[in-house]
Amino acid sequence: MTRQVPGAEPPERLPALVPWPVRPEPRRPGAVVLDLDGTLVDTVALRVAAWVAAFGELGMEVEPQALRRWIGADGHLVARAGAQMAGREIDDELADRIDHRSGEHFNHLNATPRPLPGARELLLALASAGIPRAIATASRAGQVLASVDAVGLPARPLIVDGSHVRHAKPAPDLLLLAARRLGVAPDTCWYVGDSTWDMQAARAAGMTAAGVLTGFATSHDLLAAGADLAVYGLAELQRRILDAPR
Ligand SMILES: [Mg+2]
Repeated sequence: MTRQVPGAEPPERLPALVPWPVRPEPRRPGAVVLDLDGTLVDTVALRVAAWVAAFGELGMEVEPQALRRWIGADGHLVARAGAQMAGREIDDELADRIDHRSGEHFNHLNATPRPLPGARELLLALASAGIPRAIATASRAGQVLASVDAVGLPARPLIVDGSHVRHAKPAPDLLLLAARRLGVAPDTCWYVGDSTWDMQAARAAGMTAAGVLTGFATSHDLLAAGADLAVYGLAELQRRILDAPR
């Protein structure tokens, strides 16, 4: 009888090792484009509550837990995903209506937005370092100003929102528009976000995808979605940007 050493399983029973993609150290950005909700302001839970309320008005019961991962995506995608969770198929018109209602609920709930730790410091440090910056968010114009102002900057940065493009994240349109308005090549930009949608959009735009663990996604989620780096918070990100090789 062969003696089994505890923990020494035959090789065929070990899980296959998936090599982690090794990406080169990103270079110092020519510009930084940032997501808003869950990246600069602590609003993801309010976003979820606003969507749940909008679905609820139409008799669609959606679990907040299940909606979380959709936050940050194009509003129509979120509307369709939520409806599907409630067992309903919806057309474009209803998706648009739910998106609008969710925005209205969000505005009501987001009366006193809280900036995430390090948000103000990061944007001020980028300004001091002469690195152009912009905010690219899937939200509609009316929903973003209270959040941007809560960060407490001396002047509002360039903002590109969901009303400026046909397809928001994970499509790269918002990010590419931000780069164009900043007058920089997309491949010199870093895009910073807290969701998998952000990482997908950054990769599609050809930007360095920088994930921050300030929302609901884990570092595994962000790296699997294409992040070049994933950091715990904005202070760490600030160091990574300023220390990056030129
Ligand atoms: Mg976000």
